[in-house]
Amino acid sequence: MTAPIPLIAGNWKMNGLAAALSEAKVVAAGAGESRARVALCPPATLIERMSAALAGSPVLVGGQDCHAEASGAFTGDISAEMLADAGARLVIVGHSERRAGHGEDDAAVAAKARAALRGGLEPIVCVGETLEERKAGKALTVVTGQVKGSLPPEMAGSAFAVAYEPVWAIGSGLTPSIAEIEEVHRAIRETLVAMFGDHGAAQPILYGGSVKPANAAEILAAAEVGGALVGGASLKAADFLGIVGAV
Ligand code: PEP
Repeated sequence: MTAPIPLIAGNWKMNGLAAALSEAKVVAAGAGESRARVALCPPATLIERMSAALAGSPVLVGGQDCHAEASGAFTGDISAEMLADAGARLVIVGHSERRAGHGEDDAAVAAKARAALRGGLEPIVCVGETLEERKAGKALTVVTGQVKGSLPPEMAGSAFAVAYEPVWAIGSGLTPSIAEIEEVHRAIRETLVAMFGDHGAAQPILYGGSVKPANAAEILAAAEVGGALVGGASLKAADFLGIVGAV
């Protein structure tokens, strides 16, 4: 079985005005040599402009969240179809900031992942334990439970990625040890294979949480790590390209 093609995705979160498109253009200019697929997920306001600015480049544009429905009376929300219409090719669902800040449980994340597929987007489904859960020895149970609950059966025939993002590692400068990352990634892989067979073996499992140019090579070389979901270090093209270049 060939290994999944690595994916390095940048999550700009609620950062970026039009001027930040210049950073995206620098990423596009520098990402061409990479064997990884490279994506940037800006705020929804920039998706259309970033897609236009990066047209013809290898860098994909993604959303950070989508509603489960295609349209309707959901003030302030955005659907997968709208993201695709604006030029997005991927969408992050189930980020811990959505799970914690917007009360999204596994069922809600699964509905969003299903919506992403319906809208023609590749979902990046985020999972990860809190520090309390890790300290209580529950990391594997929590993460594999999230994988089972957040990935709907429809994923069986479609490209997707799972991002393992320990909540305590996001934006904190802390990272798990390589052994801890490998332990969780192997457990996610086993779960994906149990759920989807060979298809589950062919989808990348990303690591996310304080990935920087300085630690990227070691993390990306770890067993079953098929790329990275990058927050803070994706805002500066030089840092993000340092991570892309570590694949
Ligand atoms: C994230 O929020 O997905 C993330 C990984 O953030 P950071 O890289 O800043 O820890």
